[in-house]
Amino acid sequence: MQKGRIALVTGAGRGIGKAIAKRLAAAGCYVIVNYNGSREAAEQAVEEIRAEGGEAEAFQCNVASYEAAEAMINAIVEQHGGIDILVNNAGITRDTLLMRMSEEDFDLVLSTNLKGAFNCTKFASKYMMKKRYGRIINISSVSGVMGNAGQANYSASKAGIIGLTKSVARELAGRNITANAIAPGFIDTDMTAVLGDNIKEKVTENIPMKRFGKPEDIAETAAFLADDNASYITGQVIAVDGGMSM
Ligand code: NAP
Repeated sequence: MQKGRIALVTGAGRGIGKAIAKRLAAAGCYVIVNYNGSREAAEQAVEEIRAEGGEAEAFQCNVASYEAAEAMINAIVEQHGGIDILVNNAGITRDTLLMRMSEEDFDLVLSTNLKGAFNCTKFASKYMMKKRYGRIINISSVSGVMGNAGQANYSASKAGIIGLTKSVARELAGRNITANAIAPGFIDTDMTAVLGDNIKEKVTENIPMKRFGKPEDIAETAAFLADDNASYITGQVIAVDGGMSM
């Protein structure tokens, strides 16, 4: 990867986003570690990157806000002269069965997971188009591909991410910008820590690799797609799920 690429990773203070931020920094990127509520965690992630010789800064923004996302991207471009890599990783769950799902839980998940990705992609791609270079990586989910009982809102948002990715890939391919999605299976983070032991056991039975993945497994794939050399891969959904969705 060319050194000094400017990379924005949303929701990068914790979990998968943090692993991606660290991996991109190790590859020589200047990384903007976006967070919403977890300021200390984001600052800690930046410290860890710097301690390893990388470059990073923390940036607060609720990506679900159209205005806030625009302000964040504009501030990054003003300070760093552009944005080369965008990783739309920020995401939440509000799991419950359809019959019990409130309108609020549906809207909140869609606005964070799907509209958040739209917001950042719209504003970042404007600058990528000018530069005729860009890498957009969207974190979808196995739930967006296969569906999952209790996750109608989340699955819809993650399937939406796939449609967004493919449309954006078609629109921007002529400008040397790629857009791809990663569909993780079950990964060990705060998001899956809330699952009970019996659910974890049941899930593991259906994973051919017989284990949950690590955030670093997703980070490796993100770094691969973010690389200058991945220039002919676009509009793809790459499952990183221990074989779960095959
Ligand atoms: P996590 O540990 O719960 O972290 C979620 C991250 O999203 C946090 O950094 C959080 O930041 C950020 N975030 C939430 N709402 C935000 C908002 N409005 N604006 C900006 N950032 C926001 O989850 P994770 O497991 O690392 O998940 C990361 C991504 O992978 C998500 O898109 C998730 O859907 C996807 N994924 C995860 C799994 C899994 O098994 N873990 C599987 C498939 C897909 P703050 O703490 O600052 O709010």
